[in-house]
Amino acid sequence: MIMRTDERPASLAEREERLTETSTLPASERIMSPPGPAVIELRGFSAYYGNFRALHDVSFRIPAKQITALIGPSGCGKSTLLRCINRMNDLVPSFRHEGLMTYHGVDLYDPAVDPVEVRRRIGMVFQKPNPFPKSIYENIAFGPRVNGIKGNMSEIVERSLRRAALWEDVKDKLSQSGLALSGGQQQRLCIARALAVQPEIILMDEPCSALDPIATLKIEDLMKELAKEYTIVIVTHNMQQAARVADNTAFLMMRPDRAGELVEYSDTDSMFTAPKDKRTEDYITGRFG
Ligand code: ADP
Repeated sequence: MIMRTDERPASLAEREERLTETSTLPASERIMSPPGPAVIELRGFSAYYGNFRALHDVSFRIPAKQITALIGPSGCGKSTLLRCINRMNDLVPSFRHEGLMTYHGVDLYDPAVDPVEVRRRIGMVFQKPNPFPKSIYENIAFGPRVNGIKGNMSEIVERSLRRAALWEDVKDKLSQSGLALSGGQQQRLCIARALAVQPEIILMDEPCSALDPIATLKIEDLMKELAKEYTIVIVTHNMQQAARVADNTAFLMMRPDRAGELVEYSDTDSMFTAPKDKRTEDYITGRFG
Protein backbone atom coordinates (compact mmCIF):
# COMPACT_ATOMS: atom_id res chain seq x y z
CA MET A 1 0.00 0.00 0.00
CA ILE A 2 1.29 3.44 -0.91
CA MET A 3 1.11 5.99 1.87
CA ARG A 4 1.49 9.71 1.49
CA THR A 5 4.56 10.87 3.40
CA ASP A 6 2.40 12.78 5.87
CA GLU A 7 0.46 9.59 6.63
CA ARG A 8 3.33 7.23 7.25
CA PRO A 9 3.63 5.82 10.78
CA ALA A 10 5.94 7.77 13.08
CA SER A 11 9.51 6.50 12.93
CA LEU A 12 11.24 5.41 16.11
CA ALA A 13 13.25 8.64 16.13
CA GLU A 14 10.08 10.71 15.84
CA ARG A 15 8.44 8.78 18.62
CA GLU A 16 11.52 9.22 20.78
CA GLU A 17 11.50 12.92 20.08
CA ARG A 18 7.88 13.13 21.19
CA LEU A 19 8.62 11.15 24.33
CA THR A 20 11.59 13.28 25.30
CA GLU A 21 10.43 16.64 24.09
CA THR A 22 10.56 18.04 27.62
CA SER A 23 13.85 16.37 28.54
CA THR A 24 15.80 19.60 29.00
CA LEU A 25 13.55 20.53 31.91
CA PRO A 26 14.32 19.59 35.53
CA ALA A 27 13.16 16.08 36.48
CA SER A 28 10.04 17.28 38.29
CA GLU A 29 8.84 19.11 35.18
CA ARG A 30 9.88 16.50 32.65
CA ILE A 31 6.74 14.69 31.59
CA MET A 32 7.14 11.59 29.47
CA SER A 33 4.10 11.08 27.33
CA PRO A 34 3.02 8.90 24.46
CA PRO A 35 0.83 10.54 21.81
CA GLY A 36 -2.91 10.71 22.51
CA PRO A 37 -5.06 12.24 25.24
CA ALA A 38 -3.82 11.57 28.78
CA VAL A 39 -6.17 10.42 31.51
CA ILE A 40 -3.70 10.42 34.37
CA GLU A 41 -0.71 12.70 34.68
CA LEU A 42 1.99 12.57 37.33
CA ARG A 43 4.19 15.59 37.84
CA GLY A 44 7.08 15.34 40.26
CA PHE A 45 5.09 12.76 42.22
CA SER A 46 6.72 11.24 45.31
CA ALA A 47 5.24 8.75 47.77
CA TYR A 48 6.32 8.20 51.38
CA TYR A 49 5.59 5.63 54.06
CA GLY A 50 6.61 7.54 57.20
CA ASN A 51 10.15 8.75 56.59
CA PHE A 52 10.75 6.22 53.82
CA ARG A 53 10.44 7.58 50.31
CA ALA A 54 9.06 4.85 48.05
CA LEU A 55 8.71 6.93 44.86
CA HIS A 56 11.02 9.74 43.78
CA ASP A 57 9.81 12.56 41.59
CA VAL A 58 7.89 10.52 39.01
CA SER A 59 6.49 12.36 35.98
CA PHE A 60 4.61 10.77 33.10
CA ARG A 61 1.27 10.64 31.38
CA ILE A 62 -1.01 7.62 31.02
CA PRO A 63 -2.97 7.68 27.77
CA ALA A 64 -6.65 6.82 27.40
CA LYS A 65 -7.88 3.46 26.13
CA GLN A 66 -4.46 1.87 26.02
CA ILE A 67 -2.65 -0.64 28.19
CA THR A 68 0.23 0.80 30.17
CA ALA A 69 2.55 -1.61 31.99
CA LEU A 70 4.69 -0.77 35.02
CA ILE A 71 7.76 -2.99 35.21
CA GLY A 72 10.91 -3.08 37.34
CA PRO A 73 12.61 -5.07 40.07
CA SER A 74 10.76 -6.01 43.23
CA GLY A 75 10.48 -3.15 45.70
CA CYS A 76 10.94 -0.34 43.15
CA GLY A 77 7.49 1.08 43.90
CA LYS A 78 5.29 -0.32 41.11
CA SER A 79 2.41 -1.29 43.43
CA THR A 80 2.78 1.94 45.36
CA LEU A 81 2.44 3.92 42.14
CA LEU A 82 -0.57 1.87 41.06
CA ARG A 83 -2.27 2.26 44.44
CA CYS A 84 -1.70 6.02 44.38
CA ILE A 85 -3.73 6.26 41.16
CA ASN A 86 -6.98 5.30 42.91
CA ARG A 87 -5.98 6.54 46.36
CA MET A 88 -5.86 3.04 47.84
CA ASN A 89 -2.73 4.12 49.69
CA ASP A 90 -4.83 6.57 51.71
CA LEU A 91 -5.73 3.49 53.75
CA VAL A 92 -2.08 3.20 54.92
CA PRO A 93 -1.77 5.56 57.92
CA SER A 94 1.91 6.40 57.31
CA PHE A 95 1.37 7.23 53.62
CA ARG A 96 1.77 10.72 52.23
CA HIS A 97 2.66 12.18 48.87
CA GLU A 98 4.32 15.18 47.28
CA GLY A 99 3.89 16.51 43.78
CA LEU A 100 0.87 16.26 41.54
CA MET A 101 -1.28 13.45 40.20
CA THR A 102 -4.18 14.52 38.01
CA TYR A 103 -7.19 12.73 36.52
CA HIS A 104 -8.49 14.59 33.48
CA GLY A 105 -6.62 17.60 34.78
CA VAL A 106 -8.16 17.46 38.28
CA ASP A 107 -5.79 17.04 41.23
CA LEU A 108 -6.70 13.58 42.54
CA TYR A 109 -5.47 14.53 46.02
CA ASP A 110 -7.39 17.80 46.25
CA PRO A 111 -9.27 17.81 49.58
CA ALA A 112 -12.51 18.39 47.65
CA VAL A 113 -12.08 15.09 45.77
CA ASP A 114 -14.00 12.13 47.25
CA PRO A 115 -11.70 9.06 47.36
CA VAL A 116 -14.73 6.75 47.22
CA GLU A 117 -15.76 8.28 43.91
CA VAL A 118 -12.14 8.03 42.73
CA ARG A 119 -12.20 4.30 43.46
CA ARG A 120 -15.47 3.88 41.56
CA ARG A 121 -14.04 5.54 38.47
CA ILE A 122 -10.66 3.89 38.86
CA GLY A 123 -11.21 0.23 39.73
CA MET A 124 -8.65 -2.30 40.87
CA VAL A 125 -7.96 -5.98 40.39
CA PHE A 126 -5.48 -7.64 42.74
CA GLN A 127 -2.79 -10.29 42.51
CA LYS A 128 -4.84 -12.99 44.17
CA PRO A 129 -8.44 -13.27 43.00
CA ASN A 130 -10.57 -12.12 45.94
CA PRO A 131 -14.27 -12.74 45.21
CA PHE A 132 -16.65 -12.02 48.08
CA PRO A 133 -17.89 -15.21 49.80
CA LYS A 134 -21.23 -14.67 48.07
CA SER A 135 -22.97 -15.86 44.93
CA ILE A 136 -21.62 -14.98 41.50
CA TYR A 137 -24.65 -12.72 41.01
CA GLU A 138 -24.12 -10.93 44.33
CA ASN A 139 -20.42 -10.44 43.63
CA ILE A 140 -21.40 -8.28 40.65
CA ALA A 141 -24.58 -6.68 42.04
CA PHE A 142 -22.99 -5.47 45.28
CA GLY A 143 -20.98 -2.58 43.79
CA PRO A 144 -23.74 -1.08 41.62
CA ARG A 145 -26.16 -1.38 44.56
CA VAL A 146 -23.94 0.46 47.08
CA ASN A 147 -23.01 3.04 44.43
CA GLY A 148 -26.67 3.68 43.63
CA ILE A 149 -26.22 2.79 39.95
CA LYS A 150 -29.61 2.77 38.27
CA GLY A 151 -30.82 0.12 35.86
CA ASN A 152 -32.04 -3.43 35.74
CA MET A 153 -29.67 -5.36 38.01
CA SER A 154 -29.90 -8.62 36.07
CA GLU A 155 -28.89 -6.75 32.93
CA ILE A 156 -25.98 -5.07 34.70
CA VAL A 157 -24.83 -8.47 36.00
CA GLU A 158 -25.08 -10.09 32.55
CA ARG A 159 -23.36 -7.18 30.79
CA SER A 160 -20.49 -7.14 33.29
CA LEU A 161 -20.00 -10.91 33.06
CA ARG A 162 -20.12 -10.79 29.26
CA ARG A 163 -17.54 -8.02 29.15
CA ALA A 164 -15.27 -10.08 31.39
CA ALA A 165 -15.68 -13.11 29.08
CA LEU A 166 -17.25 -15.10 31.91
CA TRP A 167 -20.96 -15.16 31.02
CA GLU A 168 -20.89 -18.40 29.04
CA ASP A 169 -19.09 -20.17 31.90
CA VAL A 170 -21.48 -19.06 34.65
CA LYS A 171 -24.86 -18.12 33.15
CA ASP A 172 -26.46 -21.32 34.50
CA LYS A 173 -25.01 -21.03 38.01
CA LEU A 174 -25.32 -17.41 39.03
CA SER A 175 -26.50 -18.40 42.50
CA GLN A 176 -23.42 -20.53 43.19
CA SER A 177 -20.58 -19.18 45.29
CA GLY A 178 -17.94 -17.14 43.47
CA LEU A 179 -15.38 -19.08 45.48
CA ALA A 180 -16.36 -22.33 43.71
CA LEU A 181 -14.94 -21.08 40.40
CA SER A 182 -11.44 -21.87 39.10
CA GLY A 183 -8.66 -19.36 39.78
CA GLY A 184 -8.85 -17.87 36.29
CA GLN A 185 -12.64 -17.65 36.45
CA GLN A 186 -12.40 -16.00 39.89
CA GLN A 187 -10.06 -13.38 38.47
CA ARG A 188 -12.47 -12.72 35.58
CA LEU A 189 -15.26 -12.46 38.18
CA CYS A 190 -13.20 -9.80 39.97
CA ILE A 191 -12.73 -7.99 36.65
CA ALA A 192 -16.50 -8.21 36.03
CA ARG A 193 -17.09 -6.86 39.54
CA ALA A 194 -14.79 -3.92 38.78
CA LEU A 195 -16.59 -3.26 35.46
CA ALA A 196 -20.05 -3.34 37.07
CA VAL A 197 -19.64 0.11 38.66
CA GLN A 198 -18.83 1.67 35.27
CA PRO A 199 -15.20 2.68 35.81
CA GLU A 200 -13.04 4.45 33.26
CA ILE A 201 -9.69 3.03 34.38
CA ILE A 202 -8.86 -0.45 35.60
CA LEU A 203 -5.69 -0.95 37.63
CA MET A 204 -4.33 -4.49 37.70
CA ASP A 205 -1.67 -5.48 40.22
CA GLU A 206 0.04 -8.60 38.86
CA PRO A 207 -3.38 -10.04 37.95
CA CYS A 208 -2.00 -13.29 36.52
CA SER A 209 0.70 -14.17 39.01
CA ALA A 210 -1.52 -16.76 40.75
CA LEU A 211 -2.80 -18.27 37.48
CA ASP A 212 -1.68 -21.07 35.17
CA PRO A 213 -0.48 -20.21 31.63
CA ILE A 214 -3.85 -20.90 29.95
CA ALA A 215 -5.82 -18.81 32.43
CA THR A 216 -3.12 -16.13 32.04
CA LEU A 217 -3.57 -15.98 28.27
CA LYS A 218 -7.33 -15.66 28.71
CA ILE A 219 -6.87 -12.67 31.01
CA GLU A 220 -4.36 -11.14 28.58
CA ASP A 221 -6.82 -11.53 25.68
CA LEU A 222 -9.51 -10.00 27.86
CA MET A 223 -7.28 -7.03 28.71
CA LYS A 224 -6.72 -6.32 25.01
CA GLU A 225 -10.46 -6.49 24.40
CA LEU A 226 -11.20 -4.21 27.37
CA ALA A 227 -8.64 -1.64 26.22
CA LYS A 228 -11.02 -0.73 23.39
CA GLU A 229 -13.26 0.85 26.03
CA TYR A 230 -11.18 1.26 29.17
CA THR A 231 -7.79 2.57 30.18
CA ILE A 232 -5.74 -0.21 31.76
CA VAL A 233 -2.65 0.07 33.93
CA ILE A 234 -0.97 -3.19 34.86
CA VAL A 235 1.88 -3.99 37.23
CA THR A 236 3.69 -7.08 36.10
CA HIS A 237 6.95 -8.75 37.06
CA ASN A 238 6.66 -10.72 33.83
CA MET A 239 8.40 -8.88 31.02
CA GLN A 240 6.99 -11.22 28.38
CA GLN A 241 3.54 -10.28 29.59
CA ALA A 242 4.32 -6.56 29.27
CA ALA A 243 5.67 -7.21 25.77
CA ARG A 244 2.56 -9.21 24.83
CA VAL A 245 -0.15 -6.89 26.10
CA ALA A 246 1.06 -3.37 26.79
CA ASP A 247 0.96 -0.46 24.37
CA ASN A 248 3.29 1.54 26.62
CA THR A 249 5.74 0.44 29.27
CA ALA A 250 7.20 2.37 32.20
CA PHE A 251 10.41 0.99 33.73
CA LEU A 252 11.07 1.89 37.35
CA MET A 253 14.17 1.20 39.39
CA MET A 254 15.38 1.82 42.91
CA ARG A 255 17.80 4.65 43.53
CA PRO A 256 20.61 4.15 46.05
CA ASP A 257 18.27 5.55 48.75
CA ARG A 258 15.76 2.77 47.72
CA ALA A 259 13.19 5.23 46.38
CA GLY A 260 11.76 4.14 43.03
CA GLU A 261 12.32 6.40 40.05
CA LEU A 262 11.02 6.27 36.51
CA VAL A 263 13.99 5.37 34.33
CA GLU A 264 12.30 5.07 30.97
CA TYR A 265 8.83 5.23 29.47
CA SER A 266 7.97 4.56 25.88
CA ASP A 267 5.82 2.51 23.59
CA THR A 268 6.45 -1.13 24.43
CA ASP A 269 8.08 -2.06 21.10
CA SER A 270 10.70 0.67 21.48
CA MET A 271 11.31 -0.26 25.10
CA PHE A 272 12.02 -3.88 24.26
CA THR A 273 13.84 -3.42 20.94
CA ALA A 274 15.69 -0.14 21.43
CA PRO A 275 15.85 0.86 25.10
CA LYS A 276 17.40 4.28 25.54
CA ASP A 277 18.80 3.83 29.01
CA LYS A 278 21.54 1.30 29.78
CA ARG A 279 19.70 0.32 33.00
CA THR A 280 16.58 -0.59 31.01
CA GLU A 281 18.66 -2.66 28.64
CA ASP A 282 20.36 -4.47 31.52
CA TYR A 283 16.99 -5.22 33.13
CA ILE A 284 15.17 -6.44 30.06
CA THR A 285 18.10 -8.61 29.02
CA GLY A 286 18.02 -10.22 32.46
CA ARG A 287 21.29 -8.84 33.83
CA PHE A 288 19.56 -8.05 37.11
CA GLY A 289 16.11 -8.12 38.55
P1 ADP B 1 6.95 -3.24 44.03
O1 ADP B 1 5.50 -3.29 43.70
O2 ADP B 1 7.78 -2.65 42.92
O3 ADP B 1 7.53 -4.56 44.49
P2 ADP B 1 6.09 -1.74 46.38
O4 ADP B 1 5.39 -0.53 45.88
O5 ADP B 1 5.29 -2.87 46.88
O6 ADP B 1 7.14 -2.22 45.25
O7 ADP B 1 7.09 -1.30 47.53
C1 ADP B 1 7.98 -0.20 47.39
C2 ADP B 1 8.66 0.06 48.73
O8 ADP B 1 7.69 0.56 49.64
C3 ADP B 1 9.25 -1.19 49.35
O9 ADP B 1 10.46 -0.83 50.00
C4 ADP B 1 8.19 -1.61 50.36
O10 ADP B 1 8.76 -2.28 51.47
C5 ADP B 1 7.63 -0.26 50.79
N1 ADP B 1 6.20 -0.38 51.18
C6 ADP B 1 5.18 -0.83 50.41
N2 ADP B 1 4.01 -0.80 51.10
C7 ADP B 1 4.30 -0.33 52.33
C8 ADP B 1 3.54 -0.05 53.52
N3 ADP B 1 2.21 -0.26 53.56
N4 ADP B 1 4.19 0.44 54.59
C9 ADP B 1 5.53 0.67 54.57
N5 ADP B 1 6.30 0.44 53.49
C10 ADP B 1 5.72 -0.04 52.40
